[in-house]
Amino acid sequence: MQAILPPAMLGILGGGQLGRMFVTAAKRMGYRVTVLDPDAQAPAAEFADVHLCAAYNDAEALRTLAASCAAITTEFENVNADAMRELAKTTRVSPSGDCVAIAQDRIAEKAWVNKAGLPTAPYLAIESVEDIQVELAPYLPGILKTARLGYDGKGQVRVNSADEARAAYANLGGQACVLEKMLDLKLEVSAIVTRVSSEQLSVFPVAENIHKNGILDESIVPARIAPALAAQAQQMARQLAEALDYVGVLAVEFFVLADDSLVINEIAPRPHNSGHYTIDACVSDQYQQQVRAMCGLLPGRTELLSPVVMVNLLGDVWQADGGEPNWNVLMEAPNAHLHLYGKKHARPGRKMGHYTVLATDVDAALEQARALKETL
Ligand code: ADP
Ligand code: MG
Repeated sequence: MQAILPPAMLGILGGGQLGRMFVTAAKRMGYRVTVLDPDAQAPAAEFADVHLCAAYNDAEALRTLAASCAAITTEFENVNADAMRELAKTTRVSPSGDCVAIAQDRIAEKAWVNKAGLPTAPYLAIESVEDIQVELAPYLPGILKTARLGYDGKGQVRVNSADEARAAYANLGGQACVLEKMLDLKLEVSAIVTRVSSEQLSVFPVAENIHKNGILDESIVPARIAPALAAQAQQMARQLAEALDYVGVLAVEFFVLADDSLVINEIAPRPHNSGHYTIDACVSDQYQQQVRAMCGLLPGRTELLSPVVMVNLLGDVWQADGGEPNWNVLMEAPNAHLHLYGKKHARPGRKMGHYTVLATDVDAALEQARALKETL
């Protein structure tokens, strides 16, 4: 496959913070970028060469994107997979619409994970009300998750009995769901793989992820797990990318259970919040990898240059009147990096930015990262 080189125009569906960091990486490498996002204030728009401010299924905007870009990717998994398949008729698109369709539907996703020979939590796919009229004990206590459009813990209900599960399913409007057994988690980790082809594939160091209220709060790298377990997670991520014949950056979230076994929780067909640390702490970062994969270049090297902790900055840390947090404390820490996404309005739970702290060991980085959070 012919490599796409700068100053070619690259296209991205979605202009949120992941799109903004993609644009930054692509521009630094000398590419130009067109962003499609219906929001006039999309975080990626201020850095993009062209902002097509239109709906993701706007036929004319999609035609313009296809005609003006050498390759197209996405930062947003709920983009219309058919639109991606259509774009792929004329332009190089990665990941494929088929892979995005799998990642955006928990039923298809879990089926694929199992088909690749990898474990998921015990789950029941519920496509209609008949599917839930079975023995539910193997999935209880459990979490009922909508098959589509869930993120940051949204679209999820914890249920303790069959009656609760059926009531919750009805409350969600009878849409397709999975009922997943609640597992006893020791830790959560993620591995991000970049795949260009079977021979050209690289995996980032495994991140340990701490969630608060269903939203990622901290990523700690290297994860505080045995090296052999981290290697196993990386190998599982590779295996899944291979099974999907995936091209691009694929994030894989895992549960670590009490017996140190790994279960795949979910996948994202794009760079991931838990991979933001790669910008400051790795030889290549996940956004450069996205550029490299879509352009048919070799994946960059992924070694960790320093132990690192990433902390998400949600709208909650802004003052009630919208006043900015005390950025000075981060600016005065010479081993911290602040990243803000340029969002105008801070709301509780909204991802506004993140920071990383680099230190010679991960415990020191974590201690300092947490101390900084207290002073913002
Ligand atoms: P989202 O798409 O919102 O990230 P996830 O399926 O990753 O949804 O669930 C969010 C969080 O909820 C997980 O990171 C984990 O902490 C918890 N969780 C989800 N499923 C389970 C489960 N089966 N057992 C225990 N905890 C779970
Ligand atoms: Mg998740």
